[in-house]
Amino acid sequence: MKLALIGVGQAGGKVVDEFLAYDARTGADIVRGAIAVNTAKADLQGMDHLSTDRRILIGQSRVKGHGVGADNELGAEVAEEDIGEILGALDSVPIHETDAFLVVAGLGGGTGSGGAPVIAKNLKWIYTEPVYGLGILPGSDEGGIYTLNAARSLKTFVDEVDNLMLFDNDAWRSSGESVEEGFDAINEELVQRFGVLFSAGEVAEGSDVAESVVDSSEIINTLKGGGISSLGYADVAVDEPERKSLLSRLRGESDDGIDSTEATNRITSLVRKATLGRLTLPCEVNGTERALLVVAGPPAYLNRKGIEHGRKWLEEQTGSMEVRGGDYPRRGEGIVAALVLLGGVTNVPRVKELQQVAIEAQQNIGEITGESEDKFSKLMDSDGELESLF
Ligand code: GDP
Repeated sequence: MKLALIGVGQAGGKVVDEFLAYDARTGADIVRGAIAVNTAKADLQGMDHLSTDRRILIGQSRVKGHGVGADNELGAEVAEEDIGEILGALDSVPIHETDAFLVVAGLGGGTGSGGAPVIAKNLKWIYTEPVYGLGILPGSDEGGIYTLNAARSLKTFVDEVDNLMLFDNDAWRSSGESVEEGFDAINEELVQRFGVLFSAGEVAEGSDVAESVVDSSEIINTLKGGGISSLGYADVAVDEPERKSLLSRLRGESDDGIDSTEATNRITSLVRKATLGRLTLPCEVNGTERALLVVAGPPAYLNRKGIEHGRKWLEEQTGSMEVRGGDYPRRGEGIVAALVLLGGVTNVPRVKELQQVAIEAQQNIGEITGESEDKFSKLMDSDGELESLF
């Protein structure tokens, strides 16, 4: 699936940068165009892979390149004011070769939190291609304002995109590392998952033709209907079999010594691990509206029976009748991987918790602001004994 990527804010930009690294490393060729949008000049400079002319600094007249300081209302305002410049930067992207837009942002800050829904709204207005969101939820230790920002952005963003895929930093926090190192590791995990999803169906010319290859339309149909989505992933190392000669492939010779029962079991166990393990957004699988299973790896390991068993199991777990499944032949990584896209999840305690904390934070902020105004006027009150100069 070919994408136009729009990274908004620092997290959005870094994740887009990581997508470009993934594309270059794996040869997946999913990125048709990419831009990063920010109000902070320094954050745009910190990217490694995106060319400098694709980095768009907005809100210069308002914040002079210093960022919006976690004020997402200001983030939304400056994105709206400079929308012409943002859309103009997408003019050079070959839209006829693009299957969808992906707007990426951390929802807890200011620029991405406020700007991403504005950009998505405008893209949907102009283009007929689907516009997806990839939103990152803040860790619960980041504080009330980040949670409040995320809850308000989430509510807005989900209505402006065809589907909002979520990644919860809280579930992916690792201890013992600096925040920066932690984010680098998290971003790799994130892009690994979304990279496999979007590369499925993009089988390069001259490579293996899969038995039941996943096509872009199956990803689009799983995401259709809107709402929130989560991804599960699991992989296991395997020996890469030698590439068979054309003659032996034509003869249907299976001389690669791979036991088919083992291949089936490997896949079914990977599907369970991917679904029941750590999801990008922790949620209850039951009640999911649609799902897609992608099994990636060297073609000799992509056993049709395994994929079918996995798909049926996923049907039982989700209670959905709309579960698609297929393979994505890919050599050279030395792994077989199962990727599960849960489209339209409805039972998500994390979102409920986020909203609750946000409501409390909003009330607290209101009360504290009122109290401080009171206290300040008491502090400055000199019982009418002193007069201002003018
Ligand atoms: P903005 O530049 O104002 O949009 O704000 P940031 O993107 O710096 O931060 C918004 C939120 O994104 C924070 O609350 C963090 O939870 C998260 N975040 C920041 N940087 C990264 C990153 O590199 N990776 C991930 N996964 N999350 C990040």
